[in-house]
Amino acid sequence: MAKSFEDSPTIPDARRRAMGPVVVIECFEEIPCDPCHDACNQGAIETFDDINGLPKIDFTKCNGCGRCIPVCPGLAIFVVDETWKEGLAVVRIPYEFLPLPEKGQQVKGLSRDGVEVCDVKVVKVENTRRHDRTPVVWVEVPKPFAMEVRHIRVGGTSLEK
Ligand code: SF4
Ligand code: SF4
Repeated sequence: MAKSFEDSPTIPDARRRAMGPVVVIECFEEIPCDPCHDACNQGAIETFDDINGLPKIDFTKCNGCGRCIPVCPGLAIFVVDETWKEGLAVVRIPYEFLPLPEKGQQVKGLSRDGVEVCDVKVVKVENTRRHDRTPVVWVEVPKPFAMEVRHIRVGGTSLEK
């Protein structure tokens, strides 16, 4: 089992990230769960041999569509696009809090531990029926923070699942 973020095979390397949007799966607990596999119609998340195992990803097949993000009960799936704009990346984050931010809004980008990293700009909010009460917020971040920002702070209370 991977012991840290850095050595996890579910994290695409810098070379893959430089090629365009790609999934980043920060699922490090061995729990009986596999909806990410079912959500991926590109075959990028392999069939689980063991339902308690960790996802295995073929990053060459991932097109960064983001379909897998809202199905993850652990909110452990993100899509990072380091090719978004000169000096800027986009991170797509599952966000189950209210109020939802709006496109164009400036919010705080937080680390995995909830520590403030930088100001980020919301460029899109996806909240369709398919998202099933797990909206996905796209935030524009300075590229050096693309692998740091994993949450945002807007304020409010959690949606109940
Ligand atoms: S982002 Fe799309 S293609 Fe990539 S793993 Fe998720 S569902 Fe599959
Ligand atoms: S759906 Fe989420 S928690 Fe479940 S195996 Fe996939 S990445 Fe892990």
